Amino acid sequence: MVSQDHQLHVMFLPYMAPGHIIPMVDMARLFAANGIRVTILTTTKNALPFQNSIARDVRLGRKISLETLRFPSVEAGLPEGCENMFQASSPEMYKLFFRALELLKPEFEHRFRQNHPDCIVSDYLYTWTVKLANELGIPRLAFSGSGFFNLCVSHNIDKYKPHEDIKSETENFVVPGLPDEVKLTRSQLPDIVKTKNEFSSLFEELKKAERDSFGVLVNSFYELEAAYIDHFTKDIKIRAWPLGPVSMFNKDINDKIERGGNSYVSKHSCLSWLDSREPNSVLYICFGSLTRFSKAQITEIACALEESGHSFVWVLGKVSDSKDGEFWLPERFQENVSERGLIISGWAPQILILEHPAIGGFLTHCGWNSIVEGVSAGVPMVTWPVFAEQFYNEKLVTQAMKFGVPVGNEFWKIWATDETRLIERYKIKKAVRGVMNNEDEALEMRKKASRLKELAKKAVEEGGSSYNYMKGLIQEIKFYKKA
Ligand code: UDP
Repeated sequence: MVSQDHQLHVMFLPYMAPGHIIPMVDMARLFAANGIRVTILTTTKNALPFQNSIARDVRLGRKISLETLRFPSVEAGLPEGCENMFQASSPEMYKLFFRALELLKPEFEHRFRQNHPDCIVSDYLYTWTVKLANELGIPRLAFSGSGFFNLCVSHNIDKYKPHEDIKSETENFVVPGLPDEVKLTRSQLPDIVKTKNEFSSLFEELKKAERDSFGVLVNSFYELEAAYIDHFTKDIKIRAWPLGPVSMFNKDINDKIERGGNSYVSKHSCLSWLDSREPNSVLYICFGSLTRFSKAQITEIACALEESGHSFVWVLGKVSDSKDGEFWLPERFQENVSERGLIISGWAPQILILEHPAIGGFLTHCGWNSIVEGVSAGVPMVTWPVFAEQFYNEKLVTQAMKFGVPVGNEFWKIWATDETRLIERYKIKKAVRGVMNNEDEALEMRKKASRLKELAKKAVEEGGSSYNYMKGLIQEIKFYKKA
């Protein structure tokens, strides 16, 4: 237990990928707004996108700082300056990136020992922080990059192995023991679930670390996944605190435009373009920070957008079939859609765009943050999962909560290759129409999404569920006694 007049000090260790570090910095800022002294431990380049927001927090009197160290890019065989998974342009580079993280571990440990905080909030992928926190006699909270729905689905697949009785890759099976009927196919499961591979031992370590932690922090809110939060905490019996949506902590317009990176569009041009559109008429398309499609797949998306006739904002990712990774569009596409399409070739201010009243739908890869951000903005979704736990997240939207339409991707694949099956333009068009056409089903989904937005807003307000979870958690850290 910490003495009454001591200001709690919590150290955050985010993983160096946008989908992890962005929500974790939001969460760290939330802790600081609740009177905690916060240190975020990261590397020089990874700190840059957050410096301005943190400086604004400090000016408001909050005790929050970024502590940086040098990323060993060159020592690990990566190009100088490559410090984030976002910059890796091949599966081989991912491996070098993991090597760099291994090299960093002793220095991270040293910084923790030097600071001796009252609590570590560690990305769940850094399993070694469990042992360290134990040695320091402090709680380790695991930041889960995903939501409770995913945590429950993956837990029950691992426990009951329903896919092992299924012969065909594309036959539906139901995941046992969940609050809803959740259907998946073998082809949608991550490789690691189906085969032993080089990551299998890491997977086991992650499960153990989750159990050995004080608990799990999740960017979600009770009303979004109530049955799954109960299932996770009461049946699977792991302590957890839903503290989100953490993106809602960004109230200042500059925080929104700068969140996670330098935006490729100016605040002014983006907002004035959106202001010129009718409410709910624009489809926002973004596949997160890591997805790369082939030129053939980009062509299918472009044709679907051209033929569908809707206005859109398309955050273009780099293509997979080019050596250095580049932005690519079919010839004349831009001229053909210049009246109704805004194309952002690079980082977009996602939450600023999503919450604009002109946005009527979100074509998403179902990264967990994107889903929570779409929910916070009250937009129905067109779902296009690609890899990681995205197929599980999709089912929350399309099967459990039913405020989205799937494009119908059936195949989990981490990196697009020549063999990756294309999602043809007619499928994309059909799903987009299903969300944007203003017919009864689409209006029903829009109503559900708006309702979720209201619930999200309430959750983070004083007295709301996430607000109360946060207050409760702070008390627990204060009164923590090593078992
Ligand atoms: N994001 C953004 N601008 C972009 C692309 C992504 O602000 O152009 C943010 C997005 O708002 C989200 C995060 O990056 O907070 C991506 O996380 P998510 O879990 O959705 O997907 P991932 O990138 O991890 O696949």
